[in-house]
Amino acid sequence: MPEKLAISGGTPVLQRSDYQNWPIITDDDRRLVNEVLDSGILAGGTAPQVTALEREWAAYTGAKHCLTTTSGTAALHMALAAVGVGPGDEVITSAFTFLASASCALHQNAIPVFVDIDPRTYNMDPGKLEAAITERTKAVIPVHIQGLPADMDPIMEIARKHGLFVIEDACQAHGAMYKGRMVGTIGDIGTFSLNNYKNLPGGEGGLFITDNEVYLKKGMLIRCFGDEIDEVSHRRIYNASILGYMYRNQELPAALARAQLMHLDERNNVRIANANFLTQELSKIPGVIPPYCPPECKHVYFFYNVRFDPEAAGVECEPRRFRIAVEKALYKEGALVGQWQTMPVPAQDIFQSKLGYGGSHYPWALNEAKGITYEYRADDYPVAKELCDTYTIVHGIHAPNGIELMKKIVQAFHKVFANLGQALDHADDPIYPGADGKLYGAG
Ligand SMILES: *Cc1c(COP(=O)(O)O)cnc(C)c1O
Repeated sequence: MPEKLAISGGTPVLQRSDYQNWPIITDDDRRLVNEVLDSGILAGGTAPQVTALEREWAAYTGAKHCLTTTSGTAALHMALAAVGVGPGDEVITSAFTFLASASCALHQNAIPVFVDIDPRTYNMDPGKLEAAITERTKAVIPVHIQGLPADMDPIMEIARKHGLFVIEDACQAHGAMYKGRMVGTIGDIGTFSLNNYKNLPGGEGGLFITDNEVYLKKGMLIRCFGDEIDEVSHRRIYNASILGYMYRNQELPAALARAQLMHLDERNNVRIANANFLTQELSKIPGVIPPYCPPECKHVYFFYNVRFDPEAAGVECEPRRFRIAVEKALYKEGALVGQWQTMPVPAQDIFQSKLGYGGSHYPWALNEAKGITYEYRADDYPVAKELCDTYTIVHGIHAPNGIELMKKIVQAFHKVFANLGQALDHADDPIYPGADGKLYGAG
């Protein structure tokens, strides 16, 4: 007797109240935020919370220097500017990432070039990196996607061989490790996001780490309008020596990030335990492909990604349609699942139209005037494209959610996979899976 799926009128496995939201606010957050309010200091490049956060994040990662910024995107842009990427330079990143890994290059008048991903880790495929390098390539931005470190050894080797800078986009990977090393400390500069969703939230904000004093000093200038500081008086002299921006962080987000940092390892461990439980259980269901973590890596599961394979599930169905059907059925069972990126980044409209500054073709036109053409075709990134057709994110693996919730999520998967016919019958229903905003404190 087949069970009735929620999508065909049955009772859902999960309730919204089974989920607890992220981020977690405790008395540590209240205490540090109150410290800011009591101090009366809300901002400043050398203000106490900002300075303490920089010191503590450097200590946590083992980097020599840290700067906090307005966002992860700002940290990425600052990093490219600090190493001297300029107009017409090419910057290579992964085809499966968030837009900012690529748009930071555009912000520096440089041109993003994409490399397809590894089918198991979803990170930049180092085997495809060298083919993307030209005489114009200046930097590589490996992304530690969804909390899993990119394969840094071959990436560093290829980058060094070609004299390229390496900027790590660790915006999703606070505390992740590659062969015993913290991500962000392997390349020339590491960047992190402090936005609400991330493993280390501060509301908004970013972090920039480096061991290189030149990049530190450049970063400090770029972060604050390019304004020089007088060496004797330590005052700003309102004389910009280089092109800068206004990327300074503030005291309230810095205080929040410091309080969150006290709990980062403990909360990452909850993500890891929840993810390991899901992986152990979901791998028993034919057609469900849990995320892979190579043994030399510590994955911190910013996102828990599963893929679906209709053939392995014993169903004849086009893979994208199968994913849509399963995703909708799971969502109706009350499981908060849904896609994040829906296409490889180079397939986005901005790369199709190549309309940049002021709606002009800059920065691409800089090189196109020299006969160098850029074409961004989704088909050139078949692994990223296939992933985008077949994956969904299982939300709610963050603390304080625990194994009780994971068990119910597994139950929802079993129910849907035992009744795939029903799920497929409803593949075209107007249902819109995804996390509700509130899950990440933004509803
Ligand atoms: C979040 C994120 C960023 C940007 O961080 P913001 O703080 O939101 O600007 C950059 N890259 C990746 C991979 C991200 O996930």
